[in-house]
Amino acid sequence: MNALTPITVSRRADFPGVGAWAYLDSAATAQKPQAVIDAIAAAYGSEYATVHRGVYARSATMTERFEAARNTAARFINAASANEIVFVRGATEAINLVAQTWGMNLKAGDRILLTRLEHHSNIVPWQLLRDRTGIEIDVATLTADHRIDEAALEAMLTPAHKLVAVAHVSNVLGSVADIARIARAAHAVGAKLLVDGCQAVPRMGVDVQALGADFYAFSGHKLYGPTGIGVLWTRGDVLSAMPPWQGGGSMIETVTFEKTTYAPAPTRFEAGTPHIVGAVGLAAAMDYVSAIGLDTIDAHERHLAGLARAELRKVNSLRLFGPEDSSGIVSFAMEGVHPHDIGTILDEEGVAIRAGHHCAQPLMEALGVPATARASFGVYSDESDVERLLRGIARVKRIFG
Ligand code: PMP
Repeated sequence: MNALTPITVSRRADFPGVGAWAYLDSAATAQKPQAVIDAIAAAYGSEYATVHRGVYARSATMTERFEAARNTAARFINAASANEIVFVRGATEAINLVAQTWGMNLKAGDRILLTRLEHHSNIVPWQLLRDRTGIEIDVATLTADHRIDEAALEAMLTPAHKLVAVAHVSNVLGSVADIARIARAAHAVGAKLLVDGCQAVPRMGVDVQALGADFYAFSGHKLYGPTGIGVLWTRGDVLSAMPPWQGGGSMIETVTFEKTTYAPAPTRFEAGTPHIVGAVGLAAAMDYVSAIGLDTIDAHERHLAGLARAELRKVNSLRLFGPEDSSGIVSFAMEGVHPHDIGTILDEEGVAIRAGHHCAQPLMEALGVPATARASFGVYSDESDVERLLRGIARVKRIFG
């Protein structure tokens, strides 16, 4: 490897889970900074109590923390109001919520438009909705370098389309969609836009108002926060018109056996005791990345991904996927070697990557492979991780001749 330009930022020391590991699986789930671990420990320890119901002081304080987390989430993506933030289990639940509430207004003959690079969690909920309502699903094609083809997508849109649902950043390729352009096109035919922001929020600044989206979904655990918590942001006028989802405690105003009335959004969509500690931990994670700066993180990851791409390209019989200007996710395949074997050999070198279809089987079909090997970066990644990846790949080459 040639002399390397200095790294912009690496926060490895903040992450007790990383240590000497070359952890290159952040797109699956990110390691947690000590600040998040501490916030979770305190929330389950000396601060712990239920929210929204208790009349005692500790519960009132925890309720404030929980609602403060909602405010933090709203600021993090520049939502117009914290009332537009619904806490969910993660992106999967967020998209299912939209499909099962807003989506139930759709009827046979209505269409929705997805793209070929979507994660299964932005495909299957719409198929379930299709089975219930008789809607049609269209799939926008990709460019030759496998990014969303915005021009082709625009050409496919008709007044029958009620929703466009796209990934902001591909979890396989790191490619970044032009969401503002897609929003304009969707709105021009009267369709709403749902954005799966799972891979965008950890690696670039997101402003839902500037993007012009109607729904924006993401998971906390990819953003250095806890598992089991995520956010569905919905534009206020759209959210307040959506029917309730799950029924139970907290989401009601009054209940009688004859008639139940529902709380306003977002409470209406948060039945039952929420993931209190998850929300507190997620807010700590948002504070953590905001203090570093999303632009800094974006530049850092692009630097490492660019370096990895440049070096991997020199390995003959290795095929790189995705556009050159991708964010911090790099997918590749090696002729005659199954990605699982790449992953296993790299693991022996202390390098963790992901190998498989990445819950994006239609994209694998478009790439013409059953699976890829994927290296994905985070704030704790540095150039030594790229070097170790390349040493591991050299060993794969030696073993497979
Ligand atoms: N969308 C994308 C782009 C993802 O990368 C993932 C997680 N791999 C999801 C959706 C689903 O997220 P979760 O499993 O946390 O619900």
